[in-house]
Amino acid sequence: MIRMFHVYKTYHPKIQALIDVNIHIRKGEFVFLVGPTGAGKSTFLKLIYREIIPTKGQVIIDGINISRLKPSYIPYLRRNIGIVFQDFKLLYNRTVYENISFGLKAIGATNFEIRQQVKKVLNLMGLEHKKNVKSQLLSGGEQQKLCIARAIANEPLILLTDEPTGNLDPDTSWEIMQLLFHINIRGTTIIMASHNKLIVDKAKKRVVRVERGKIIEDTQRGIY
Ligand code: ADP
Repeated sequence: MIRMFHVYKTYHPKIQALIDVNIHIRKGEFVFLVGPTGAGKSTFLKLIYREIIPTKGQVIIDGINISRLKPSYIPYLRRNIGIVFQDFKLLYNRTVYENISFGLKAIGATNFEIRQQVKKVLNLMGLEHKKNVKSQLLSGGEQQKLCIARAIANEPLILLTDEPTGNLDPDTSWEIMQLLFHINIRGTTIIMASHNKLIVDKAKKRVVRVERGKIIEDTQRGIY
């Protein structure tokens, strides 16, 4: 599903954000990306989403080398990738329903499809009763559920998320994690960047540790 071969990313002037990264993430895996601030985690996620391209090496998504992708194909790639990033904000003066339908409309879904999909993801995230509420009135946990609902509304193959439990209390954080595990079990490959050691330890999933641009650990937890 996702492969990186000898990937390097150097930012101007000489910041080596990733150095010789090699990885294979299979369809349906749940992977934690951990490591200190500045280690290269966001760069890793941005490469998959093709927000940036590698300085050297190959990023292959579903058999396609995405550095070589023609610009006109980028929207098709992104349709298969849902993202929950902190800088990807909700439309606060719009309702929960509108926040989800907006993206579906943008990719040309019919009104019928939009109604069906919004209903499905609201149900999955336990937000049906908030359908007509403006997103600014939701609690922190509900806003995060809405961000996830919006990201999975068009049923992407891959979900990328950067610290989705940041600023949430432990119980709500674990509730969000359970929802992500559920989405994962339904077949979506998930990569989650996180600093939350408690959650990473409790989840017992594959852990990829990045430090100074290099993968220094790649272990499957929970299998003994
Ligand atoms: P993390 O997500 O683990 O905090 P990043 O991938 O954001 O790490 O950053 C890796 C390194 O690359 C850091 O030294 C950071 O300052 C640098 N960096 C990230 N984005 C840019 C950019 N657009 N221009 C220059 N340097 C960048």
